[in-house]
Amino acid sequence: MVKILAIANQKGGVGKTTTSINLAASLVNAGKRILLIDLDPQGNTTMGSGIDKRFLQHTIYHVLLGEQTIANVRISETKGRYHLIPANQDLAGAEIEMVGLEHRETRLKNALQEIITDYDLVLMDCPPALNLLTLNGLCAAHAVMIPMQCEYFALEGLSDLVNTIKRVRSSFNPTLKIEGLLRTMFDPRNILAKQVSDQLQQHFGKKVYQTVIPRNIRLAEAPGFGLPVLLHDKHSKGAQAYLDLAKEVLNAAA
Ligand code: ATP
Ligand code: MG
Repeated sequence: MVKILAIANQKGGVGKTTTSINLAASLVNAGKRILLIDLDPQGNTTMGSGIDKRFLQHTIYHVLLGEQTIANVRISETKGRYHLIPANQDLAGAEIEMVGLEHRETRLKNALQEIITDYDLVLMDCPPALNLLTLNGLCAAHAVMIPMQCEYFALEGLSDLVNTIKRVRSSFNPTLKIEGLLRTMFDPRNILAKQVSDQLQQHFGKKVYQTVIPRNIRLAEAPGFGLPVLLHDKHSKGAQAYLDLAKEVLNAAA
C-alpha cells in the first residue's frame, strides 16, 4: 500500500527541503516509485530537483484551486528519477483564494487520488508555517516526518507542531501519526546539540530516527546543481545518511 508522508516543521531552515529531495532520491535508489510534492511557495524543492520554477505554466497552485488535474501538473523527469509536483510563488496566493472554497483543507488529498496508485511512497515538502498549505499536507498524509535541528528553541516549536497534529487528528484525519523525528545538521562536537538530542530521545523514544543527518557541505551544495546529493557526491557523509534514512523508512513501512 502507498505511504504518504508530510515532511513538516513550522520552524524555518531545519532541513525539510533537503530531506524531501534526498529522501526521495534515496528511495528511488532502493527501487521505489516516488512522488515528491512541493507545497512551499519558495519552490526550493522544485529548483533543487533541477526544475526552473520561473518557467512553469502549471503548478500545485492550479491543482489546489481546481484549475488543473494533478496528472497534468506532474513532471515525470527529474535527475533523481522521482516524479515532482512543482510549486512557485503563485502558491503564496492560494491560502487567501482557497478561503471561500469548499473542503479547503482536503483539496490536496482529493486531488492525489487520481495518481496515487502509481507510487509506493509520496513525500510532501511543507512550508515553514502552520498554514492552510501545511494543513493540506497533514490532511493528505498517513504520517508526519519532522526534521529538526537540535537547538534550544527546537523543543518549544515542537509542541506547537504536535498540538496542530492533534487538532488535525480530531477534525480531519483521525489516523495521522508522527512517523519520526529526524535530527538534521547534527554536529556531535556541539554539547548543546547532544543535550537536546538526549532530551528528544527521552521524550519521544523510538519516534526519533536512529539515522542522524550530519552537517555536510555536499548536502548544501547539491541543490545549486539541481541534483540530489546522491548524484552530486554519493560517497559524502550526507548521501550515506539519507540512504540510511531511506532504509529506516522502508523498514518501518514493512
Ligand atoms: P524552509 O523552512 O525555508 O523551507 P527548510 O526547512 O526546507 O527551510 P532547507 O532548505 O532544507 O530547510 O535547509 C536550510 C539550509 O541549510 C539550506 O541552505 C540547506 O542547503 C542547508 N542544509 C540543510 N541540511 C543541511 C546539512 N545536513 N548540512 C549542511 N547544510 C544543510
Ligand atoms: Mg524548505
